[in-house]
Amino acid sequence: MTAPALPTAVRDEALGLLQALIRLDTTNPPGLERAAAELLAQSLRADGVEPQLLEKEKDRTSVVARLKGTGELPPLLLTAHLDVVAAEAARWRHPPFAAVVEDGWLYGRGAIDMKNMAAMSTMVLKLLRREGAPLRRDVIFAGVADEEAGCRLGSEFLVNEHPDLVRAEYALGEIGGYTQPLRGARLYPIMVAQKGMAWFRARVEGSPGHGSTPREDNPVVRLSAALGRLHPTALPFKATRTAREMVEGFAGASGFPGNFVLRLLLNPALGRWALGRIPDEGTRRSLSALLRNTATPTVLRAGTKTNVIPSFAEAELDGRTVPGDGPEELEAELRKVLGPDVKLELLRSLEAVEASPDTGMYRHLAAAVASLDPEGVPVPLLVPGFTDAAPFTRLGTTFYGFSPVVFPRAPAVSFSALYHGDDERIPVEGFHRGLEVLLDVVRRWCT
Ligand SMILES: [Zn+2]
Repeated sequence: MTAPALPTAVRDEALGLLQALIRLDTTNPPGLERAAAELLAQSLRADGVEPQLLEKEKDRTSVVARLKGTGELPPLLLTAHLDVVAAEAARWRHPPFAAVVEDGWLYGRGAIDMKNMAAMSTMVLKLLRREGAPLRRDVIFAGVADEEAGCRLGSEFLVNEHPDLVRAEYALGEIGGYTQPLRGARLYPIMVAQKGMAWFRARVEGSPGHGSTPREDNPVVRLSAALGRLHPTALPFKATRTAREMVEGFAGASGFPGNFVLRLLLNPALGRWALGRIPDEGTRRSLSALLRNTATPTVLRAGTKTNVIPSFAEAELDGRTVPGDGPEELEAELRKVLGPDVKLELLRSLEAVEASPDTGMYRHLAAAVASLDPEGVPVPLLVPGFTDAAPFTRLGTTFYGFSPVVFPRAPAVSFSALYHGDDERIPVEGFHRGLEVLLDVVRRWCT
C-alpha cells in the first residue's frame, strides 16, 4: 500500500502547526502546557472537532478530542505529550524555541520528542473530519501534560480520573516509526515494550565517631564498597520475548559478522563477551540495559563535617525492570549484589509494559512501514525508559510506539542523538511523509 501525498497547502498547515507548538516553551519543570493545549484545541475547533481541556494542577493542561464513529468497532487513541525537556540554548545552532527551518530541517525542542506527533495527530483528526471519512470506530487524540516528569499530571491523571475519555483498544504514540540505519539497512522500530521503573534508597547505618579515629563500621566506606559492586552488568542476564525479537530483527538486517555477534547476545553464557564486540558505545550500553534489570546509583548522601564519621550513608538507585519483573525481583537481585549490610527502601515504581507484536494492529503498522520507506524494515522495539504507555495500558489498551518520521540517507542524523539532545530537529519532508502515513494508517484502520 502507498499512502497518498497531501496537497501543499495541507503540508504547510501541518508544518505551521508544529512550528507554533514548538514556539510555546513547555519545558518541564514547570511544564505549563496550557498554551500548547489551547493552541491544539483552537486548531481542532476550526474544523468542527470539539476538544476538552483537563488539568490536575493549574496550567498543567491536557487536551482530549474525539471524532465519533459508528461505534461498530472499539476506539483508537492517538497520543503525544506536550511537555519537553530543558534545552541549553548556547549549545544550539538556532534558538530551541524559535522553530527555524534551515536546509530542509525544522529546529526546535520537541521537534521529534514529540510535538511532531501532537501536530500530526491533530491534523489527522482535522483531515478525517474535513473529508467526512465514514468511521466505524471513534478516533481519540490525547495531547498530555507532564510525561517528562513521570506522567502524573498528564496520562496518569486522565487514566485515573477521566478513563472513559481515553479508553481505547489500541493506542499509537511515543517511540517508533523513525528511520534507524544499520549497516546500509533502514530499520523502522515500533515500540511494543518498555522497561518498568523501581527507584530505591540504599542505606547503611553505623555509629558516629571522630574522624581522627577510623572505625571499621564507617557507613560511608561500607556503602561505597557495596555500590562499587553494582557495575552496569552486575545484575543477571534476562532476555525477554521482545528483547529477543528485537535483537533478531537487528541481526536479520545486518550482514556478517554483525548478525553473528548480535545473535550471541541472546546466549546467557556468551552474551557478555558478545556485548564487548559491539563497537558503538551507545548501542552497547543500551543493548546491555535491555537484557537485564539495572540499578544506577545517582544520588549520594552522608555526613556534614569533615571530622565527624556520620551515623548513616545513603544512595538513591534508579532501578529499571524488564517486562515480567517488578520491584520485588529487582530488590532480590540487588540484595545479592549489595549484601545484607544495605537496607533497601522502594521510593517509587512504574510497571513495565509488553504488548504482543502478534496483533492485527502491529501487522497494520508493519505494513505501513513500506509506505514510509520502500526499503524500510519494521522491528519490534523494547525501550529502557518509560513513556505514557504505562498509564494508558492500565485501561486495557494495547500501546504501540508509532510516531512516523522518515530521515534522509544524508546527512546521517541519528534519531536517538536528537532525543533530549542539542539541535533537536526534524526533516521537513520526513515529517510530511509521517503525517501522510499516519493519516493513511488511521483511515484504513477506522473506516
Ligand atoms: Zn518523549
